[in-house]
Amino acid sequence: MKVAVVGTGYVGLITGTCLADLGHHVICIDNDRSKISLLKKGKIPIYEPDLEPLLKKNVKAGRLHFSNRIQEGVEKSQVIFIAVNTPPMASGEADLSYVAYVAREIAEHLKSYRVIVDKSTVPVKTGHKVSETIQRYCKKGVEFDIVSNPEFLREGSAVQDMFHPDRIVVGVSNPRAAQIMRQLYEPIKTKFIVTDVSSAELIKHASNSFLAMKISFANALANICELSGADVEQVVYGMGMDHRVGAHFLKAGIGYGGSCFPKDVSAFIKISEDLGYPFHLLEAVEEINEDQKARFVKKVKDVLWVCKGKTIGVLGLSFKPNTDDMRNAPSLSIIHELLKEGAKIKAYDPQAMDKTKNLLKKIQFCRDPYQVAKGSDALLILTEWEEFKKINYKKIREIMTTPIVVDGRNLLHSQEMNEMGFVYKSVGRS
Ligand code: NAD
Repeated sequence: MKVAVVGTGYVGLITGTCLADLGHHVICIDNDRSKISLLKKGKIPIYEPDLEPLLKKNVKAGRLHFSNRIQEGVEKSQVIFIAVNTPPMASGEADLSYVAYVAREIAEHLKSYRVIVDKSTVPVKTGHKVSETIQRYCKKGVEFDIVSNPEFLREGSAVQDMFHPDRIVVGVSNPRAAQIMRQLYEPIKTKFIVTDVSSAELIKHASNSFLAMKISFANALANICELSGADVEQVVYGMGMDHRVGAHFLKAGIGYGGSCFPKDVSAFIKISEDLGYPFHLLEAVEEINEDQKARFVKKVKDVLWVCKGKTIGVLGLSFKPNTDDMRNAPSLSIIHELLKEGAKIKAYDPQAMDKTKNLLKKIQFCRDPYQVAKGSDALLILTEWEEFKKINYKKIREIMTTPIVVDGRNLLHSQEMNEMGFVYKSVGRS
């Protein structure tokens, strides 16, 4: 099939590349000219495991193209995906202006039947607005269908997730569109769920909010564990063994971040309120998440007593491992707070340092964990990169000024760290 994907960010680029690999002819479109010219040169603007070889293979096979022009995508493609950003506004509402702009531009070039698929995460009822917009700006009598096809990929394992999703959700208002979507995804063997457009939109917001709730639940539990002397890792392990609860995302730490959970939870709170049902449970989820970062900073301050003039080493900047994405990374607010306290910060991340350089000017970036540890008064683990487990901590202890580790991700073993002579603090474990 011939497919256009408007918005060549994390979701658009991965969707476009994987659809090309399934045998479709795909044009990835973006209005960021530098991004498209980079991609045309075979360079990839993001770090995502497995993406680069797949992209190169499909470009070489002539199935994957890049363009700045929505018109080209509309003219050449039967299915047009909207995968632009839907960032949060100050009110917490999703900013839908990028979706609205693209919908209008698609409409202006629409000459014959097309399926227009919203892949961006949007509040319930956005599909109706997109449909209205297209109706308003397209030529009279041109037919189209609107589909909501939320994306569930996770950065860091996005290519795998695209090819092996737990389910594909397609919200339609017309069986004809469902049939085309079924054909598009036919090579992917998984559950194919067809709903109405609003239900599909809600499935996405509800799923992300539910996962964020599990994280906040684990964090609240961690705080109870700290007060009672229990161990949160043992508690969530015991809970997660019950398949009705499930072990995934039941993980205590420094709170969720990234480009999705914070914005989707607040957008869901806002849309629920606008609809007339204040979703108080999600307000608590948000509150616990914010509080968790503040509690971590307090833990660092408690162990260092005075931060002013001290050197604090940071391992991990990205909001989670295996990505260079820094959007809403908890590391950012934690580092800001410690800088305010007068600490000097040295940091290392395997992938996210380039992106962090634009966000944090006053910190020293290091080439490896050992350079971070040298002369540091405390070492903080803020992202659970696998390679941080393999560090020689005996060597780290020797080169630190004071051997203090505050592990925000419970990556290391308390007993081993204590035996090595560290003052070791983690989350929800005594
Ligand atoms: P992104 O910011 O990485 O990419 C969005 C792209 O859209 C950018 O390259 C931007 O230049 C482009 N764009 C904006 N306006 C445009 C226009 N008028 N014409 C052409 N291109 C335009 O965002 P993302 O992370 O890919 O997220 C996209 C959507 O998918 C969001 O709604 C997000 O919530 C959702 N989502 C993201 C993830 C994730 O893990 N990143 C997962 C599931 C769903």
